[in-house]
Amino acid sequence: MQQRNEFWQTPVHESSLSQADVLNRLIDEAEAVVVGIGAGMSAATGFTYVGKRFTDAFPDFIEKYRFFDMLQASLFEFEDWQEYWAFQSRFSLLNYFDQPAGLAYVDMKEMLKDKNYHVITTNADNAFYAAEYDMDKVFRIQGEYGLWQCTEHCHQQTYQNEDLIREMVEKQSDMKVPADLVPYCPECGAPLEVNKRTEEKGMVEDGHFHEQKERYEQFLDENKDKKVLYLEIGVGHTTPQFIKHPFWKMTEENEQALFVTMNQKQYFIPHAIRPRTVQLDEDIAEVFHEAAKSNAHGG
Ligand SMILES: [Zn+2]
Repeated sequence: MQQRNEFWQTPVHESSLSQADVLNRLIDEAEAVVVGIGAGMSAATGFTYVGKRFTDAFPDFIEKYRFFDMLQASLFEFEDWQEYWAFQSRFSLLNYFDQPAGLAYVDMKEMLKDKNYHVITTNADNAFYAAEYDMDKVFRIQGEYGLWQCTEHCHQQTYQNEDLIREMVEKQSDMKVPADLVPYCPECGAPLEVNKRTEEKGMVEDGHFHEQKERYEQFLDENKDKKVLYLEIGVGHTTPQFIKHPFWKMTEENEQALFVTMNQKQYFIPHAIRPRTVQLDEDIAEVFHEAAKSNAHGG
């Protein structure tokens, strides 16, 4: 049996409240909100990696390689760097440089307005920037599609060249960019690639990354003994070491903390925090939209 938590007033297990109301009340009650964002959040607001968005952008790559989604395609070992950049340049315009504001992100910003909060996201897209968040409150732990790193990780520096990306998109043909547009590491001469983490090599983490990490860790530290809401949204089980497992641990260590997970799939929850876990299983975008509306009206 789930019990009511002694530190929280919101009746989280009573069906008379909508999930949007539960969320608004919990955010209102919390002294600090730590928001963990996974792929399910971007998918919920339309930045999907399957379907029309994918087939419209990459018909040639799908025909050649029979990719079933954009994630698989983005991790594929292309036959050479000219083909790699033909794909990645289009991918990074779609998911970064030209990414529009997603309504669920805008709604969540409204819900968190004036709250003491911080975000950690495993998404490398540009959704928080596009929705005009204060980027000092956002930690992109898995890199950014708009940044490049040396494939050899020879030095801890990332690069960005939006103009070159646009030139690659414009000048590519037959799924190849011209050879002279392929970018190389200014230090060691190895090819550059999109900034991302792999199991074997990790990720290039530069000063910008470490600043984000420090701000996030400072927020966690400053608030660790308060009434904290750990709000996990659209987080699956592919990389639980970044959001899911730390959120469980921090909830367990702070008796005033509450763990809220928004996901249409039901995931395992450890025994120790089950009484302090709230699972919201409705559509993320719909819940946020309703919550933001009632928040805007002072509800
Ligand atoms: Zn290098």
